[in-house]
Amino acid sequence: MTSPIWHPFTQHGLREPIPLVTHGKGAALYTDDGRRIVDAISSWWVTTHGHAHPRIMAAIAEQAQRLDQIIFAGWTHQPAEDVARGLLAIMPASLTRVFFSDSGSTSVEVALKMALGHWANRGEARTRIVVMQHSYHGDTVGGMSVGARGVFSAAYAPLLFDVATVPFPAAGCGQETLDALEAVCRTRPAAFIVEPLVLGAGGMLMYGADTLRAMHAICAKHDVLFIADEVMTGWGRTGALLACEQAGIAPDILCLSKGLTGGSLPLAVTMAREDIYASHLSTDRARMFFHSSSYTANPIACAAAVANLAIWREEPVAGRVTALAEAQAERMARLANLPGVANARTLGTIAALDLEVTDAGYLSALAPRLLARFRDADLLLRPLGNTLYVMPPYCIEAGDLDRIYDALADAVAQVRATG
Ligand SMILES: *Cc1c(COP(=O)(O)O)cnc(C)c1O
Repeated sequence: MTSPIWHPFTQHGLREPIPLVTHGKGAALYTDDGRRIVDAISSWWVTTHGHAHPRIMAAIAEQAQRLDQIIFAGWTHQPAEDVARGLLAIMPASLTRVFFSDSGSTSVEVALKMALGHWANRGEARTRIVVMQHSYHGDTVGGMSVGARGVFSAAYAPLLFDVATVPFPAAGCGQETLDALEAVCRTRPAAFIVEPLVLGAGGMLMYGADTLRAMHAICAKHDVLFIADEVMTGWGRTGALLACEQAGIAPDILCLSKGLTGGSLPLAVTMAREDIYASHLSTDRARMFFHSSSYTANPIACAAAVANLAIWREEPVAGRVTALAEAQAERMARLANLPGVANARTLGTIAALDLEVTDAGYLSALAPRLLARFRDADLLLRPLGNTLYVMPPYCIEAGDLDRIYDALADAVAQVRATG
């Protein structure tokens, strides 16, 4: 009997095999038919320290014996308090408030509502959101509204709210982005939301720290709230704990999820500057922040995040990130000049290249074909259109990295030969 499951971002009509994974360890996943798969994309960008990290698994098991779930409106628990204090100790000092939710998309919805609530409570009519071209901020209606529009959002377009868009700062075009941002900021929008340094789902598009710093300065000058969506870039992905650090900036609102629990359980936070919290602070209940979900700050998920914070404090995570960054840069450099490869790029633990394909009609057939190829090679790799990227857990070993890069070279040659 076929499975009744309707999978995300899956066209079941293509009848591609759906492997059944039984367990994971480090950078490897194991299937019920005995295969060992190398997780080259950290199970969709979440797994930082590796699958089933013993400290995180132990923290989950221990918390599960104590307290499974508790309403978070008007109640609290120690794991949540420890996560909040732990974050304050390592995140930018100006971010003094921590609001919990349960996914990256929700952390974005919360950020947008905080921004609008801030201005509403101050009696200022500022509601417009500014976004960057090619961005991705999640698949909920608000997340889609502030993200790039395309085939994946077309059917829902009537539900999406209007935003102002600044162009992506492609190499040499940074000034265009800054000029556009400056112009739109003069119209007094509520906030600018951006993925710092790397636009993930948009195709691992990278831009410079100088542009990020300049965009932040423009927002500050015009009092436009700067929301950093570090759901993907946070937790070491770009080589630093936060991508914003590389530009020496602190956002007004910060979204974190994916690596917050080391990639083990769903949890997210939206951190805010004190004045954004303060504008909601009153004896008037009409001014409170109207947002919650049933599992806000679930204690077991928080215990996993506490363990992640301890791993960052006590284990040489930064050293692992640097080593992985160097290992990837070296391997990507060997692919960069192959015929058929464009824009080979790396930043921290993220490496990507674009396959030169001219026939757009062919493009649609390319991704599924490559997916099948990688699956047959026992690799979890998922091309974004004609972009191939690698984003492994920080514990991956050299032999597994070599297998990934051999498969990439192979794919480049294959596409060139047949495309
Ligand atoms: C993945 C992602 C999200 C959405 O997070 P979910 O946990 O999948 O809802 C939002 N923003 C960015 C930048 C992401 O990469």
